[in-house]
Amino acid sequence: KEFGEVSLKDIEQLANSSFPLCMRHLFEKLREEHHLKHGGRMQLGLFLKVGSERFDKEYAYSIRHNYGKEGKRTDYTPYSCQKIISSTPGVGDHHGCPYRHFSEENLRAALGKMGVGGRTMDDVMDKVRNRHYQLACTLTFESIHASSCDAGINHPNQYFTDSQKVLKT
Ligand code: SF4
Repeated sequence: KEFGEVSLKDIEQLANSSFPLCMRHLFEKLREEHHLKHGGRMQLGLFLKVGSERFDKEYAYSIRHNYGKEGKRTDYTPYSCQKIISSTPGVGDHHGCPYRHFSEENLRAALGKMGVGGRTMDDVMDKVRNRHYQLACTLTFESIHASSCDAGINHPNQYFTDSQKVLKT
């Protein structure tokens, strides 16, 4: 399902059920602060494909603005995990990959909110310490969906569609 077809309420629900942690975090910050800095607008905006007019109106003026400002931009490809992991968020930025860019304390708190705990939390932190960020994300996916993800997570939009597949079966 493309975001263009869904209502704002649906997007909030989808964020809770099917967004990977990087996008949950950006979406939460956008709602809290009604604004994202450039890196965040790009990462979230491209992920959402900025399809829904209502999302645009109520949350993402700044995302739309961004497209206006960068009218000459032609590559609207949503960012891959690799690209997000290798980004370098500065102070006040909320983009990036939480497995790579959060402190251990903040990552544990964020994972706890997603319902990750116990043994899985330890396994995820283990992967993070070994710099296997996408594997950490894959373990998170498998834990909260109670379903395996054999291909592993390599793209936030893949996380989303795989999640929707699991939840709809
Ligand atoms: Fe997002 Fe990919 Fe990091 Fe998961 S591994 S949080 S999908 S960038």
